[in-house]
Amino acid sequence: MNSEYGKLYIVATPIGNLGDITIRALETLKSVDIVAAEDTRQAGKLLSHFEIKKPLISYFEHNKAQRGPVIIEKLRNGENVALVSDAGTPGISDPGADIIKLAREEGITVTMTPGPVAGIMAVVLSGLDTSRFVFEAFLPEEKKKRKEIIESLKKETRTCVFYESPHRIISTLSEMEEILGGERRMALCRELTKVHEEIDLKTIEEHVAMFREKAPRGEYVMVLEGISRESLEEEKKAAWDDISVTEHVEKLIAEGLSKKEAIKKAALERGSSRNEIYNLYEKEKKA
Ligand code: SAM
Repeated sequence: MNSEYGKLYIVATPIGNLGDITIRALETLKSVDIVAAEDTRQAGKLLSHFEIKKPLISYFEHNKAQRGPVIIEKLRNGENVALVSDAGTPGISDPGADIIKLAREEGITVTMTPGPVAGIMAVVLSGLDTSRFVFEAFLPEEKKKRKEIIESLKKETRTCVFYESPHRIISTLSEMEEILGGERRMALCRELTKVHEEIDLKTIEEHVAMFREKAPRGEYVMVLEGISRESLEEEKKAAWDDISVTEHVEKLIAEGLSKKEAIKKAALERGSSRNEIYNLYEKEKKA
C-alpha cells in the first residue's frame, strides 16, 4: 500500500431508520475530503441531516466505468474518499464492488465502517435456519436465467436470501411456486427498520394467495427455507425405488465399474451407506 495515497472508506448507511447510522460512519463522513454516492440527492439529505458539509461526486451503475478512474485519481492524489450507496452496505447489490476492486488493484487502502445490510437483517428475523445461508441477491431479469437459478434451488438445503423490487415480487413468487412447489416456507421481510416493518413467514402458495387480496408495498427481502437434509435423502432413495439394489449395482458394473466402485456409487446415489448396499447386494444375490 502506498502511504501517500488517500484511503477509500466504505461507509454503510441506514436502510430506513436514520438512527442506525454509526458513530464511526459520522466521524468518517466528517473527516474525508469527498463523498462518492450512488445517489447524490439521497446522500445530500443524509449529510445535511447530520450537519455534515462535503463535496459529493456521483458513482452509480451507469457512470461507474468513467467515474471509477476519476475517483481513483483523487485517491492517488492523497484525497480521502467515502463511498456511500442509496442505503445499507456499499458493495452488496450495488456498484460499490467495482471501485473496491479498482482501488485494491492500485494499492490504495480500502477500509470500512460496517453497518446495516437488508439481507442479513432479514435472515436473522426470518425465523428460518440461520446456521447456513446463501445470498442470491436479485434474480436476473432474463427469464431463462431466472428459471435456471430457481431450478438449482430445488435441492438447496441452505436458507436462500433474495432482494426483489415490489413490482416483480408477485411474478417471482409465482415462478418459485411453479418450479419449487407451493409448500416451501418463505419469510417476506418488508420495510426493515421502518415504521411498517413486517416479517411474514408462511408457505409460498399462501404468499401468492395473500397478494391476490393485497398489493405489495415497500421494500422486500425474500428468505426461502432450504429443504431438509432428511427430505433430500428420502428423495434420493425414492428416485431408485423402481430398481433393486442388485440391478443398480450390476448396471454400474456393466458400465465398467469394479464391484467395489459400483457399490460405492450405488450407495452415494441411493443416499445409503456402503455397508448397507453391500449387505443387500449379497443377500439379494444369494436369494
Ligand atoms: N446495499 C443494500 C444493502 O446493504 O442491503 C442493498 C441495495 S439493493 C440495490 C436494494 C434492495 O435491498 C431492495 O430492492 C430490497 O430488496 C432490499 N432492501 C433495502 N432496504 C430494505 C428495507 N428497509 N427493507 C426491506 N428490504 C430492503
